[in-house]
Amino acid sequence: MTTAYDLVVRGGLVVTAGAESVADIGVADGRIAQIGGDMSGEREIDATGKLVLPGGVDMHVHLSPVEMDGESVPWADDFTSGSRAAAAGGVTTIGNIGFPRPAERLPELVARLAAEAARDSVVDFVIHPVLMEPDAQTANDIARLAELGHTSLKIFMSIGDFDTKLPGFVEALGEAGKQGMLTMVHCEDSCVIEQATAELRAQGRTGLRHYGESRPTRSEQVAVSRMIAFAETVGAPIYIVHLGSEGALSEARAARGRGQRVYVETRPIYLYFTDEKFAGEDGPLFVGNPPLRGARDRDALWAGLAAGHVDTCCTDHAAWTLADKLDPELTVDTARPGMSELETLMPVLFSEGVRKGRLSLSRFIEVTSTNAAKLFGLYPQKGTIAVGSDADLVVWDPELRRPVVGAQGLSRAGYSLYEGWDVVGAPAQTISRGEVVYSEGAVVAGQGRGRLVGRGPTRDL
Ligand SMILES: [Zn+2]
Repeated sequence: MTTAYDLVVRGGLVVTAGAESVADIGVADGRIAQIGGDMSGEREIDATGKLVLPGGVDMHVHLSPVEMDGESVPWADDFTSGSRAAAAGGVTTIGNIGFPRPAERLPELVARLAAEAARDSVVDFVIHPVLMEPDAQTANDIARLAELGHTSLKIFMSIGDFDTKLPGFVEALGEAGKQGMLTMVHCEDSCVIEQATAELRAQGRTGLRHYGESRPTRSEQVAVSRMIAFAETVGAPIYIVHLGSEGALSEARAARGRGQRVYVETRPIYLYFTDEKFAGEDGPLFVGNPPLRGARDRDALWAGLAAGHVDTCCTDHAAWTLADKLDPELTVDTARPGMSELETLMPVLFSEGVRKGRLSLSRFIEVTSTNAAKLFGLYPQKGTIAVGSDADLVVWDPELRRPVVGAQGLSRAGYSLYEGWDVVGAPAQTISRGEVVYSEGAVVAGQGRGRLVGRGPTRDL
């Protein structure tokens, strides 16, 4: 007997981390109900000649304002525009970094941003609360977060007097580990940065062409090394966000070699650009933290991504408009780090990585979806194609040739770092919990259909 489903994706090459075969996929009530065998659907998508991949899981995006020193600084993208860009790029789950308002407790901040995202997002989401002020209540807050299924935390070593509050941060890291949570860490050393920047100021070299010198590689390496030691001390896993240099990667590899749970994320800019960019007229567009490094660093990250020393490639999507990025008044002190990447993450990595033979298709899926889903407690609901999993699928056209035109993108940035790049491979359809949210050039789902995903504990890869 043929089972009738809500949706059938027919004839595609279904690819997961480690396996591929041509099969039909039957979807019922938003979940994958059958893979292979006879089936029919109320709606059918012909995926013949295409790949069917697990939807992207980008656990590092900024779609809510940075709250600091009583000020709220919005990005060009919020949950509305950012989640639409995600859907267009094949990303079906986003992890938003949420900053607390003054005196706001972590569980409150998650509730506030989850409500905003539930109102606006077209794709599913989780919120990573930023711990800025560890205090006597922090351990309780962390236990409460875990209880509510928010199993991650974010710490910045480079902002807000990290070092003066260090004991509190390390205690929080240990508590998070005990609760099965994963702590994301931005590793740059504020002391090294301040010294290097002071020297540039003294020399009158404060323009953005000197951005790389203001945050030298050693500031990342020493921060990674220290954070690994703190994590080892309290026996907690850490996830190093946007790792960008060979030196920092070798610290992480050495710790892993000792059996420590240190996970590594990189992001697109470090794979495609080097610090030579800062010398160009459009140099300010490439300002992000940590800054772009040299060719050796770029090559080390590609090798790490292919070999499994780098676990995820997430965007750190933090969009500014062109005018904001190219503001001639900006200096190394007032720089606006961040770039729009959600729409290009998967297509550019597929084109430059898989098609050019630097990354296997299986690794592509691991680093854009499966690994993040495991690390952030979403697996196997997200990050794979299996019976019982959410039907988060990308019908991927490996031959679709589409030059990047930032102005046509869905991000309000209005430009792309990949302007004019000849990118081959892109989503034909993006499906979230069985609903087509993007099809052939247009987002076809409404604002506010995305859901907060309740999570389990972090798991090893
Ligand atoms: Zn970030």
